[in-house]
Amino acid sequence: MKCSICEHDIDVDVYGWDQGHNADPFDGRCCASCNEVVVIPARLHRLTEMTASNHTRKLLEDGKADEAMEFVKKGNAEFSDRAKRGEVINLSDMIGMNETITQDIIRREQNETQD
Ligand SMILES: [Zn+2]
Repeated sequence: MKCSICEHDIDVDVYGWDQGHNADPFDGRCCASCNEVVVIPARLHRLTEMTASNHTRKLLEDGKADEAMEFVKKGNAEFSDRAKRGEVINLSDMIGMNETITQDIIRREQNETQD
């Protein structure tokens, strides 16, 4: 069997498995090396994109990468506080909560500027 990404032969692993790895988000099956170097990073990237708030996305689109990173850090801190209080259950909650958290942070910062 050939790797669908690099087209080299997929090696038999230590367990005798010769069907390689699921290459999602790419098609077909891939070798161990492509799985590590290409597939897993692509999945992490997809996950990051899925969980980025619209506010962060907008900042990135506007070329404000530093501001976006700052905002992600604030969001993560807030997120981890809420997770500790047991408010996070699964990925879809995380995506929904990301928007809630974003709105909360923006509202808080607007209040601070008004004071
Ligand atoms: Zn490969």
